Amino acid sequence: MKKHILFLGAPGAGKGTQAELLSKTYSYLHLSTGELLRKEIELNTILGRQVKDIINRGELVSDELVLKIVKQNLDKDNKGWILDGYPRNLSQVNSLNEVLIEINQPLEVVFYLDIPEEVLIKRLLLRGRKDDNEKTIRNRVDIYKKTTEPLIKHFKDLSLLEYIDADRDLKTISSDIKQKMAW
Ligand code: ADP
Repeated sequence: MKKHILFLGAPGAGKGTQAELLSKTYSYLHLSTGELLRKEIELNTILGRQVKDIINRGELVSDELVLKIVKQNLDKDNKGWILDGYPRNLSQVNSLNEVLIEINQPLEVVFYLDIPEEVLIKRLLLRGRKDDNEKTIRNRVDIYKKTTEPLIKHFKDLSLLEYIDADRDLKTISSDIKQKMAW
């Protein structure tokens, strides 16, 4: 059974939902950088105040800040974890790699949730989070294409990538993922 898992995909692809379901099933830690950052904003911490405007514009928070938050929350007991929303660019891939070598917990699988662009924009508009207005969504999708999409090839070359068709209902996707977890 895979224990160190990453979810990759555009905003609105359903990473958070699937990662949450999977982490509950296996009692793994679910680490969503977006969620963690939103919590900081909610609590009005120093970090939260630093990132609030950036997130509301749909831009990426600095690699340094996100790495700090990942390091703070990554599971050192090795019961298993699912990372969602991180890494988002190649520099974050390298940082994560260093951390994982340090804690001796190698990444075992990357689930890439694939979804057509028009579907995800519709989904995000329906979701209606504070950073889910049309302008911000376009910005996030553009940044995703430019900086995050190249990671698909990176993980494919490492033979870690599992392709998931995310334009299906929630349960079908979830059972597809579970089946691939056991490989
Ligand atoms: P979505 O997948 O819909 O973009 P997330 O909850 O994953 O939503 O992220 C929300 C926002 O948090 C992003 O638009 C970005 O500003 C910030 N963020 C999350 N993860 C990262 C990351 N790894 N690097 C930089 N910024 C991040």
